[in-house]
Amino acid sequence: MAALRAILGGRLVQALPSLGSVRLSSSFKAADVQIERCASPQPKPDSSSLVFGKHFSDHMLVINWSESDGWERPQIKPFQNLSLHPASSALHYSIELFEGMKAFRGADDHIRLFRPMLNMQRMHRSAERSCLPLFDKSELLQCIKKLVEVDQDWVPFSQSASLYIRPTFIGTEPSLGVSRASKAMIFVIVGPVGPYFATGSFNPVSLLADPAFVRAWKGGVGAYKMGGNYGPTIAVQNEAVKRDCQQVLWLYGDQEEITEVGTMNLFIYWTNSKGEKELVTPPLEDGLILPGVTRQSLLDLARTWGEFGVCERSLQMPELLQALDQGRVLEVFGAGTACVVCPVGSLLYKGQTFQIPTMENGPDLAKRFYKELTDIQYGRKESDWAPLVV
Ligand SMILES: *Cc1c(COP(=O)(O)O)cnc(C)c1O
Repeated sequence: MAALRAILGGRLVQALPSLGSVRLSSSFKAADVQIERCASPQPKPDSSSLVFGKHFSDHMLVINWSESDGWERPQIKPFQNLSLHPASSALHYSIELFEGMKAFRGADDHIRLFRPMLNMQRMHRSAERSCLPLFDKSELLQCIKKLVEVDQDWVPFSQSASLYIRPTFIGTEPSLGVSRASKAMIFVIVGPVGPYFATGSFNPVSLLADPAFVRAWKGGVGAYKMGGNYGPTIAVQNEAVKRDCQQVLWLYGDQEEITEVGTMNLFIYWTNSKGEKELVTPPLEDGLILPGVTRQSLLDLARTWGEFGVCERSLQMPELLQALDQGRVLEVFGAGTACVVCPVGSLLYKGQTFQIPTMENGPDLAKRFYKELTDIQYGRKESDWAPLVV
C-alpha cells in the first residue's frame, strides 16, 4: 500500500482494476465547433436572488457520437430540450455521468475557470468506467471555454456568485439490452449560481450519521460522478431533515468509517493522539471517496504551507467521538465546488447529538482555505490554477 501511495503521489488518481477494452475513438476537435446563436437572449436573473441549478443561459454545447460514425462536430446552439429515443440507455440503466465546475468573473473583469483539467480527467475516467466512448480531454475543455465565451454575459458580475458548468455524458443507445451504448451524447449546460447553502457559506451544518445508510462501497462506483450514485441519496437526505439535520455524514462498514458529507469531501483538523496538529481526510485508494478538485486543492495548499501534518487516511466514528470527548477536534468541514468549504457544527449519531467546536475555533483553517481559493478564482491572487477564458 505504501508503494502504491508513492506511485499515486498527490494526484487525483486511484488504483482501480482495468475493466474491458477501452473504446478508442478519434476525438472531436474544438476547432470544428459550429455555433448557432439564439435569436432572443433571455433576461438574466438578479445575482442576489439566485437559486442553485434553476437558471440556465442562452446556449448549450452538444456533441454526438455513434459507433458507426464516431464523434460528430461539436455544436453550440440555443438552449433547448433534448429529443431522445424512449429506450435510451441513460433513462433505463443510468448510463450517465456528469461534472460540476465553475467560471468566475474577477475584479479585473476577466473570466477564469478553476483547475478545469482535473474535471476533464475525472470525466474521462467516469466515461471509461461507463463504457462510453473516450475523447480528448483538452479538446472538450476548449469546447467548454467556447461555450462560456459565447455566454459570457451570464457569468455574474459579482464576487459571491459564479457560472456553474454542468458537463454531462449519456448513453443514447436506442435499445433495451444491457450492453454498452452504440450511441452517446456529451452536452454541457451552464447557469448563474450564488452561494450553495441557503444558510450561507459560514453557517455550520448539522449532520445525521446513521450507519444504516451507505453511499458507496468497496468495488463499487462511488469514486465516479455517475448520476446513479445520487438519486438514491435523496431519500436519505430527506430522512436527515426529518431528524432535524441538514446533511448526511456517510459511514461505511462495520468499523463505521467516516467517508463524505452530503456531496462534499470531509476534512477534520485536530490535535492527533500524538499531540500534533493535523489535517485528515479519507483516502482515495478504497474507491469510496469521490476525488474532489476542492479536496485535492486543500491538500495541495496545506502541504505547501507545511505548518501542520496533512494525512489521507481512513477515520472511524469511535476515533472522532473520542477526539471530541478529549477536546482535540478543532474544525470539521466539507469541501466541494458548490461551497468551497462548509463548516460542520454538530452530529446526530445513535440518537445522541455531539457538538463540534468548528465555529468556536474560527473556523480559522476553513476560512483561510476559503480565502485562498476564492482569491485565486476571482483573480485577486495570480495562480496557474485559474486559466483565463476571456
Ligand atoms: C462532486 C463531489 C464532491 C466534490 O468534488 P469537487 O470536485 O470538489 O466539486 C465530493 N463528493 C461527492 C460525492 C461529489 O459528488
